[in-house]
Amino acid sequence: MKVVQLTRHGASSGLEIMEQEKPILSNQDQVLVEIRTASLNHLDLWIRRGLPGLHIPLPHIPGSDAAGVIVEVGSNVKEWRAGDEVVIQPGTFCGKCPYCLAGKEDRCASYGILGETEAGVMQEFVCLPSHNIGPKPQTLSFAEAAALPLAAMTSWNMLKNRAQLKQGETLLVLGAGSGVGSMAVQMGRYLGARVIATGGSEEKQKLAFSLGASEVLNHREPDLSKRVKQLTEGRGADVVFEHIGEATWPESMKALAVGGRLVTCGATTGVRAEINLRHLFYKRQSILGSTMGSLADFYECLHLANQKALIPVIDRVFRFEQIQAAHDHLEFDHSFGKVILEGWN
Ligand SMILES: [Zn+2]
Repeated sequence: MKVVQLTRHGASSGLEIMEQEKPILSNQDQVLVEIRTASLNHLDLWIRRGLPGLHIPLPHIPGSDAAGVIVEVGSNVKEWRAGDEVVIQPGTFCGKCPYCLAGKEDRCASYGILGETEAGVMQEFVCLPSHNIGPKPQTLSFAEAAALPLAAMTSWNMLKNRAQLKQGETLLVLGAGSGVGSMAVQMGRYLGARVIATGGSEEKQKLAFSLGASEVLNHREPDLSKRVKQLTEGRGADVVFEHIGEATWPESMKALAVGGRLVTCGATTGVRAEINLRHLFYKRQSILGSTMGSLADFYECLHLANQKALIPVIDRVFRFEQIQAAHDHLEFDHSFGKVILEGWN
């Protein structure tokens, strides 16, 4: 079978298509999935370039998000059958610690991500325990299904659990054109919030409207916070959804209402941010970090998709053999939504 292999850190030329033995079930709790589609996340770029403090033995099979069809089922697995269409749940965890037993798998001390802490899903066939798969929503194509898991779990955990966004509140979504941003706009609407979104281009702004934002601003223009306050009778946003980092942080903080919650899952433009502590305590604001989500978050996202409340936005589809071009597209020419890989032959 064919696999994508990262053979050296750095540019996309370190990614190659290689032949490898088709895997066999290593225990009877696993299923064998034929991968039809996969999607790229910014995590794939970080791993390719090399993450400080994280040693990834090379060669490494990348990929966290995918969808496919079950071809073989271990004898202990009762809930799945060959032929079932599935999406991959990218989180890995021990399943035994107090966090795992309480349904907070993403807090597990051994929590990892397929394609980062272990071999990923960019392979023709992959063996996984059954908690790493879920039923593909009937409403989604294989390409859309592969776009869902990591970004949706992350956004849902941020809005529902961490920021506890409520009906009638105002949500400001930075970078609505990204994978997590485009999910957050739809989830904000689903949770009954008024969604103000930002996009760095006219195309992304149009997309944000089509996903359900009631107002859309350009975060590249100055004084974003002033414009948010004009739209909210001077109050600001109850929840700010951040993942851009350094470039937008000062305005994101200024746009936050009294009692507001800023929740962040990333820093694509840099990790250094300043906080005015006087503003923070006077305004009783909260800054919340978040990453990935629990199994319950994953299943709730599938439920949202089945209700057509969540439709992943696809930017462009590449074939697996174009993995280098797909990485370059996400890195340099990315417009909006998710970059998909499909078709091994
Ligand atoms: Zn655990």
